[in-house]
Amino acid sequence: MQDVVEKVYEQVVARNRGEVEFHQAVHEVLESLDPVIAKHPHYAEGALLERIVEPERQIMFRVPWVDDAGQVHVNRGFRIEFNSALGPYKGGLRFHPSVNAGIIKFLGFEQIFKNALTAQGIGGGKGGSDFDPHGRSDAEVMRFCQSFMTELARHIGPSTDVPAGDIGVGGREIGYMFGQYKRLRNSYDAGVLTGKGLAWGGSLVRTEATGYGAVLFAQSMLSTKGESLEGKKVIVSGAGNVAIYAIEKAQQLGATPVTFSDSSGYVVDEAGVDLDLLKEVKEVERGRVADYVERRPGARLVTGGSVWDVPGDVALPCATQNELDGDAAVTLLRGGCGVVSEGANMPSTPEAVEAFQKAGILFGPGKAANAGGVATSALEMEQNAGRTRWDFATAEAKLTGIMTDIHDSCVAAAEEYGRPGDYVLGANAAGFTRVADVMIAHGIV
Ligand code: GLU
Repeated sequence: MQDVVEKVYEQVVARNRGEVEFHQAVHEVLESLDPVIAKHPHYAEGALLERIVEPERQIMFRVPWVDDAGQVHVNRGFRIEFNSALGPYKGGLRFHPSVNAGIIKFLGFEQIFKNALTAQGIGGGKGGSDFDPHGRSDAEVMRFCQSFMTELARHIGPSTDVPAGDIGVGGREIGYMFGQYKRLRNSYDAGVLTGKGLAWGGSLVRTEATGYGAVLFAQSMLSTKGESLEGKKVIVSGAGNVAIYAIEKAQQLGATPVTFSDSSGYVVDEAGVDLDLLKEVKEVERGRVADYVERRPGARLVTGGSVWDVPGDVALPCATQNELDGDAAVTLLRGGCGVVSEGANMPSTPEAVEAFQKAGILFGPGKAANAGGVATSALEMEQNAGRTRWDFATAEAKLTGIMTDIHDSCVAAAEEYGRPGDYVLGANAAGFTRVADVMIAHGIV
C-alpha cells in the first residue's frame, strides 16, 4: 500500500479497535486504490479517504422485549448510516447472535461501493441486532421487531435511510417492522423499507434477486472466456434466501447445483438439488438441512469438514462472512473449481482471495456479485415512488441489465488500472470513484 493509504488504514485500526471484519473490508478496498491514486492523486486530497472510512452516523440502541413466558430480554440494535453521497442510506438489517458494531460497520462499508456499482442513486448503510430469531415464535419475533422499530423509526425515511432484509430478516420481519413504522408515523411510506410483501408495496423478483444476481454475474464472467454455466457442477453454501435462488437460477441456466449448508452441516445431493423440497423445508417449515436428507434418497448430510471439500466447477458462497478460508480455497482449486461468485458479503478470507487470484480463476467479489439484491430493492423504491408495479419479466429484465452493467464496469475499471480480469480491483475502483467524485462535488461535508 502507498504511504498515504497505509496511514488511513492504520488510523482505522486504531480508532475501531477489535473490529476485525471492518479492518479486513477497509484493507481490501484501500489496497485496490493504489493504482487509482497513482493515476488520479486528487482522490487522496481533502481527507477524502479519511472521510470515506468514517461513518456519517452510528446509532446503537437498547431493544427490550418480552418472550412468550413473560421473561424480559434486552438485545442491542444498530444502524450505521455510512455514506449518503449518492442517495439515501440503503442496506439491510441482520438479526443474528454474532452481530456487533464491527460486523455492521464492515457490512455498511461494503454497501457503499456495492450500491455505487448499481448506479441507482443509493447511499450505503446497514443495521441489525444480536437477536436470534431461531426457535422464536411468530409472536416473539413480532414483539422484538416492534421494539426494534420503535427506536429505528426516528432515524429512517424514504429519502433518508431505507433498510431491508439480510441474514435473519425476511418478509415476516419486514412486515412486522413496517406495521410498527406505519403506526408510529401515521403514514403509509411504502418506500421506507424494501423486501415488502407483494400485497403492500413489494417488488416481484426481490426475493430471488441476490441469488439470481450472483449466478448472472458468474455467467457474465464465464462469457468473457467464451464459456457458460451449461453442464457445470456447482457448489453452493448456505440454505437461506440467497442460496435457494442461486440454486434456482443455476438450474435454469443448465448447471447442476449439488450442495447447500447451514450451521448443522452440509448436504451433498449428487443427483442435483431438489429445489421444491429445499424450499418446502426452509421457506415453509423453517427447518434444518437435515430435514431435507430425511426425505431425499441419495442425499447425505456431512457434519465434519466444509462444503468446499466437495469438488465442482463453480463455487457460490452464499452463507456468511469468512466462511471460505485459504485452505478451503486450495481444496476447491484442486477439485477443479474455475469460478467463484460471492452471494454472501465477504465470504472469502483474504488468503482465499489471494489463492483464487494467484490461480487466475474467475473471482467475483460480493460487492459486485451480490449487488442484485440491493439493486432490486432500488427497483422496489422506484415502483413505490411511482405508485406502480412491474410484472416479473420486467423486473427480472431490469435486474439482468444491472448485473451485466456491474460486470462490465468491473471489467473496464480493471483494464483501466492495468490489471485485466481482476474483478476485486475492478469493483473497488469503479465503486470508489463514483462515490469519491460526488463527495468532491458536495464539498467538505
Ligand atoms: N442485505 C442485502 C445486501 O447485503 C440487501 C440490502 C437491501 O436490499 O437494501 O446487499
